[in-house]
Amino acid sequence: MQEAFLIQGQTIAANLRASIKQQIDRWPQTLQRPRLVVIQVGEDPASSVYVRNKVKACEDVGIDSEHRHLEQSITQLQLIAQIEQLNDDQSVHGILLQLPLPKHLNAAALINRINPDKDVDGFHPINSGALFAGQARLVPCTPAGVMLMLEHCKVALRGADAVIVGASNIVGKPQAMLMLAAGATVTLCNSKTRDLHAHCMRADILVAALGKPHFISADMIKPGAVVIDVGINRLPTGKLCGDVDFDEVRKKASWITPVPGGVGPMTIAMLLANTLKAAQGFVDPHC
Ligand code: NAP
Repeated sequence: MQEAFLIQGQTIAANLRASIKQQIDRWPQTLQRPRLVVIQVGEDPASSVYVRNKVKACEDVGIDSEHRHLEQSITQLQLIAQIEQLNDDQSVHGILLQLPLPKHLNAAALINRINPDKDVDGFHPINSGALFAGQARLVPCTPAGVMLMLEHCKVALRGADAVIVGASNIVGKPQAMLMLAAGATVTLCNSKTRDLHAHCMRADILVAALGKPHFISADMIKPGAVVIDVGINRLPTGKLCGDVDFDEVRKKASWITPVPGGVGPMTIAMLLANTLKAAQGFVDPHC
């Protein structure tokens, strides 16, 4: 059997970034340019890399950005005060709280304090609730990026069996809502799922988002399935890998995303798209 085609997230993301840059190049001189503030607390090394990449991506398309790097010891109340200051600042269109946060901070309570119109991660309950109700506003970047990849490859979702392995608030659950809205029959699996193998074998489209290196093996794949690997795991060798056994699964799938160079670049591109959307005076059409 022919090996799966690669879904080139890098290229799809580059096209999206180019289109965002064009829109920002035409931004009226009289208007405040789109501006994103990324809050990082403490020194988590992976977070530092992610934040650097986000800030660099903003620069490349002409979005103003600020990396607000706060002390590990900041209290919940002090961080709320920072968020509220940014909520009130008319020059700021997007606020992103880089996760994970130090253990003494309550991430959910902090996300709830971000103005939903500036919540470019799409994690605020107003935004997740709107997505649930079929009235999407700012949509979480990773699942939105996956949808764009599927669209780019002309993968038909209507009537398809989509299986998502991993049910987090930031990936699996919003992914399920987006796929459901596109007409797929969605199965959302978690760590308690009985017979994960049987669910995966039914998938026309399989999204792996559980955070376990090479967990999805070729014997879990229906021949011809589209396989999207959201996982980013660092092996003891220092090499990055996904949740899918790429070398074996690509022999059975029709389309597959690589790691790195698959979903990761899409996530950052969708963050830029959400910041632009927020700056364009994003008005909730359903209110
Ligand atoms: P998370 O919050 O840890 O959630 C993991 C989910 O996977 C949970 O729902 C968990 O089930 C489920 N799970 C764990 N083991 C399982 C198993 N054996 N069978 C079935 N389900 C299982 O992780 P996350 O934040 O969603 O991230 C998942 C992966 O995606 C990570 O590798 C992360 O680095 C990566 N990621 C990548 C991007 C990107 O841009 N490419 C963005 C975000 C995340 P329970 O609910 O039962 O615990």
